[in-house]
Amino acid sequence: MITFEELGLEEQLVKATSDLGFVNPTAIQEKAIPALINGAKDLIGLAQTGTGKTAAFGLPLLQMIDKDQKFPQALVICPTRELCLQIVKEITAFKKYLPTVSVVAVYGGSSIGLQIKDLKRGVQIVVATPGRLIDLIERKAIHLEEIKYVIMDEADEMLNMGFQDDIEFILQNTPIREYTWLFSATMPNEIRRVTKKYMSDPMEITVGAVNT
Ligand code: ADP
Ligand code: MG
Repeated sequence: MITFEELGLEEQLVKATSDLGFVNPTAIQEKAIPALINGAKDLIGLAQTGTGKTAAFGLPLLQMIDKDQKFPQALVICPTRELCLQIVKEITAFKKYLPTVSVVAVYGGSSIGLQIKDLKRGVQIVVATPGRLIDLIERKAIHLEEIKYVIMDEADEMLNMGFQDDIEFILQNTPIREYTWLFSATMPNEIRRVTKKYMSDPMEITVGAVNT
């Protein structure tokens, strides 16, 4: 079986996965991590819930961002507050040996003032639900001019919850977006349409059976 080291991850990240008790990468990690580290711009990753998709995008992202610059470079959008917190928790564990990296969660139903304060401290990675993110954009508390990476997690759930217009607004307002990664458990037609409109020649990785 392959190891995290063999996927091309830097030592600090390998050490963090090992501290978490991860021994071998899951199938989606084994395929997505080397592809992303080697520069795949647009990627669609399809795999069932519980197969380790957070690490599949989180580890390459941590390796690739500019760790010396303290402005938002990467945006992870996801459907719910719970998921937002879960992703931040996992990314925080992965960045254990990368002391200059900061990540912040922004989601509805919680003090926007505190989130604005967090953003002002300077962060590289913002994990957000679409509604709150747009609220912050409108208040000019965050700007997307320097976002290079946009990751859509649980894309099918976001569309089910009616976030399609918000997601398109966010994608349209990331002028220097270079990397667009989409993860989902299923691939309904509306997602196919979003990927056709906002991604160019995406690499597609499917693990197991995926329903449409
Ligand atoms: P998904 O997003 O596909 O639903 P998650 O990324 O939430 O899955 O991962 C599910 C669980 O598996 C989490 O508790 C995570 O820490 C754990 N996990 C992820 N990758 C590995 C791995 N390579 N080895 C062991 N556990 C892992
Ligand atoms: Mg997930």
